[in-house]
Amino acid sequence: MPGQRELQNQFSWSKSRDGIFSACLRGYYYHYYGSWNGWRHDAAPDLRELYIMKNLQTVPMWRGTVVHQVVQEIVGGLREGRPLPVEQALTLARDRMQRDLEDSRTGRYRRRPNRLCGLVDHYYDKAVTGDTLQETIVAVEGCLRRVYSAGSYQTMLQRGPGSIVEVEKLQSMTMSGHKVWVSPDVIASTAADRLMIVDWKTGASASSEGTRLQLAIYGIYAAQTYGVDPNQLIGVEENLRLGEAHVHALKEYVLEEARQYMKASILRMQSLLHDPERNVALMDYFPKTDKLARCMGCNFRRACERG
Ligand code: SF4
Repeated sequence: MPGQRELQNQFSWSKSRDGIFSACLRGYYYHYYGSWNGWRHDAAPDLRELYIMKNLQTVPMWRGTVVHQVVQEIVGGLREGRPLPVEQALTLARDRMQRDLEDSRTGRYRRRPNRLCGLVDHYYDKAVTGDTLQETIVAVEGCLRRVYSAGSYQTMLQRGPGSIVEVEKLQSMTMSGHKVWVSPDVIASTAADRLMIVDWKTGASASSEGTRLQLAIYGIYAAQTYGVDPNQLIGVEENLRLGEAHVHALKEYVLEEARQYMKASILRMQSLLHDPERNVALMDYFPKTDKLARCMGCNFRRACERG
């Protein structure tokens, strides 16, 4: 389209980018370089297809997306002083899932891959079975019901709307001269000068090192942004699937470990670039994984000719 603004592919870092980099270098290349500009109306068909693949979701990812979106409404409602009743939250989730399924089944997502839900199964001509769907609905509803009894939600309810500082706001900070994206699920004050950072989890696995790192990264952002001493920060991992909460003290040494991790990860990513200054990557520097099991559920297996 004449006049369409050319977006520059600038290097930035996020915890999810690090996860994609660690899983498979070729997947990382497709995600952050190979599919770049695939949103353009004049994108070449191969490029457009990579962009569509990049935006696909597995069923567990979709479950997490729906829960996060509705929890955002629940906490957002609390922040505005009009708590959302649980039945309304469940209705929002059911409507959303129905719409998503239609967008995915009918292939409508191909028109707006970054806005409409496209499931990996449908893209690869695999049906999402009734059992999988039923399990997903039950899991989503269970997660949403557990939000209301979660300790962090109860704390926000007791302390009132003014205690909620941020709800899923995409923010950034700088590390080693690069932009780092963060989007804490919730930041709320629990007492004067004391902040709680909440991470909602919807998977069946219990507390992990990855979650601790994620919360520490949010801790660095919160300490910088709100001028809070790290000793006054706590991270709360609310596993809505299991109904468990894990509290992480975000002391200065925990934040320092996270800084070191981010710096090392940025260096590893940059070392594979053809031109780090201009953030130019060449596909040959990003080999396909030899762990074939990783390919089985991967969005890009068509591009890699792996199923
Ligand atoms: S299909 Fe396999 S090799 Fe290709 S991007 Fe996915 S995980 Fe990597």
